[in-house]
Amino acid sequence: MVRRSPRARRRHREHTTARDRGECWAIFRWSVIIEPRRGSEVRDCCGQSSATSHRARWRSLSRNLPLPLRGHARTLSSAVAERVCPIQVVESAVSRPGRYSRLPVKPTNSVLSSYGTTIFEVMSRLAAEHDAVNLGQGFPEGESPEDVLQAAADALVTGWNQYPPMMGVPELRQAVAAHNKRFYGFDVNWQTQVMVTSGATEALAATLLGLVEPGDEVVLVEPLYDCYLPMVERGAGVPKFVRLEPPSWELSEKALRDAFSERTKLLLLNTPMNPTGKVFTRAELELIAKVAREHDAYVVCDEAYEHLVFDDRVHAPLMGFPGMADRTVRIGSAGKTFSLTGWKVGYITAPPELLAPIAKCHQFLVFTTPPNLQQGVAYGLGKDDEYFGKLAGDLAAKRDRFGAGLTALGFDVLPCEGTYFLSASGRGAGLEGTDVEICQRLVAEARVAAVPLSAFYEGEGPTEFIRFSFCKPNETLDEALRRLGEYLGAKP
Ligand code: PMP
Ligand code: GLN
Repeated sequence: MVRRSPRARRRHREHTTARDRGECWAIFRWSVIIEPRRGSEVRDCCGQSSATSHRARWRSLSRNLPLPLRGHARTLSSAVAERVCPIQVVESAVSRPGRYSRLPVKPTNSVLSSYGTTIFEVMSRLAAEHDAVNLGQGFPEGESPEDVLQAAADALVTGWNQYPPMMGVPELRQAVAAHNKRFYGFDVNWQTQVMVTSGATEALAATLLGLVEPGDEVVLVEPLYDCYLPMVERGAGVPKFVRLEPPSWELSEKALRDAFSERTKLLLLNTPMNPTGKVFTRAELELIAKVAREHDAYVVCDEAYEHLVFDDRVHAPLMGFPGMADRTVRIGSAGKTFSLTGWKVGYITAPPELLAPIAKCHQFLVFTTPPNLQQGVAYGLGKDDEYFGKLAGDLAAKRDRFGAGLTALGFDVLPCEGTYFLSASGRGAGLEGTDVEICQRLVAEARVAAVPLSAFYEGEGPTEFIRFSFCKPNETLDEALRRLGEYLGAKP
């Protein structure tokens, strides 16, 4: 028997009547239904935490849902609760007719609805709420090149502010082709092989939706970046996972071969890799190229961090390996190359036969990308070698500074060869529980935000490691270390 307050009883009565009339009403702004795990916290979409017993509350909410939504809610809860942090729970409820908009009884798109809010957004919200140092979401602070900002500002004030060409402004497409030649020696036709996108995210979405047919198998490497799987599933592709194991994150030939079949359409490769900080070795890239060729598969290369490679390593795009130019889609991100993640300018280099269907998708997704930002990036890609060298060098120094600080606190820090991210286990520092629990405690009690590595897995992943973004001013990194030290010192 559920005990309800008079207000809840009234709402329940109203709802039941509405349900009996065959109407289903839902609170418009609370839209995702996830069953909280035991002991988890429930927050509404404004980040307000509820003081009531959450599981009991969930049970009563779930019971109050009209039948057609109830099954849907359960599906969501089991699919999502396993995958996402309990801290990203958003409530859903059924409410009074007349006050809120009417929700159709038929379920919405089940693929996308089954995902929670991304861990990056969740941790950034929590960081703001707790006034924490935000080393969760990966965005650099204080590093953006002034001249690139100025080039975009000039283009905004004096240039074209209407729709630019769908494929991107010629200046940027030419700059992307020139960048391919300058850094990797690729001869690229800017008119048939280059397209500008709204960030690497849109490039990935357009590529996956443009290339994958229902039933095609897509090989994904775990841990994997958050937007890959939803787009594969939305395209009705069938994901096949290859798992890399910490601490070395080496690619096993057997695991790779096991994931391929005659139905494999493509493999999605991220190097340098988020969240592991791994840069795939030449031998691993040769293996991937060989297996892809044997299966006549495409390879989509997310190379957003191509210029963030450390310690004399070089980034080697798979596109340059024998027999790969015709089957590889290469994706870059100005957000990472110019430390301007809010700009959301990306670019694709691909053979004309692959770029054409990807462009079809792009034209319906966003059609185009702000022209002034494109002009800023076109200018930026032409910056001198010193800029690109300093970008990686400065980040490597931050990695070393922050990594040494974490080690001194007892963290077991994994190697990091590129990207913005360091992963570490806090066991040696006395942090107990899962990575999710540790991140929850650290953001609220130490006021330092990190991201649990298990959020980058489709199924069960390791629950020992948390990811820190070190692309921050030294003072910010030092302050995070100071807070962590204080917190760990204060522990019993
Ligand atoms: N791929 C990876 C691996 C990323 O980490 C990110 C986010 N930084 C993206 C793609 C998305 O890049 P963008 O912000 O250009 O959309
Ligand atoms: N790529 C960034 C990260 O891994 C986040 C991007 C986002 O918030 N969508 O932290």
